[in-house]
Amino acid sequence: MNKDILKDYMYLLNRLYEKLPRKVKPTIEFELPQLQITYIGLHTTIKNFAQLCDRIRRTPRIVMRYLLRELAMPGTIDEHGSLTIYGRVSAQTLQTLFSRFMRNYVKCPTCGSYDTILQRQGKIWVLRCLACGAETPVRPI
Ligand SMILES: [Zn+2]
Repeated sequence: MNKDILKDYMYLLNRLYEKLPRKVKPTIEFELPQLQITYIGLHTTIKNFAQLCDRIRRTPRIVMRYLLRELAMPGTIDEHGSLTIYGRVSAQTLQTLFSRFMRNYVKCPTCGSYDTILQRQGKIWVLRCLACGAETPVRPI
C-alpha cells in the first residue's frame, strides 16, 4: 500500500474513533464542589447552591424541593442563587442529602454515568442517560 494512503487511512480511522461515543467509560466518582454553608441564627444558607445545581445539571427548584422535602423544613432561593433553609442543618446532613440526590436523580443506574437529564412525562419522571440511552423511571420530587 502506498505510504500516503496508509497515513490518510490511519488519520481517518483515528478521527472516527475520536468521534465515537465513549460508552465503556469506567465509573468515575463524581466530584461535587464543596458546599459553602453559613449559619445565621437558626437559618442555614448554602451560598453556592446555584453553582452546585449547575454542576449536576439540575434546576435549583428541583434540588431545593428535594432537600426541603427530605428535611421537612421550609426554605427559599434568593436572587444570587443561594438556598436558605429555615432551620439549622449540619454540613454532614446536607452532604448526605446531596449524595443521595445524585445517586437517585443524576447517576444512571445502567452505566454509572452522571451525564443524564431528568424528564417529566406527565406524572412519570424519567432519568435519561446521555451516555448509554437508558431510561429509568424515578420517584417524582
Ligand atoms: Zn447510562
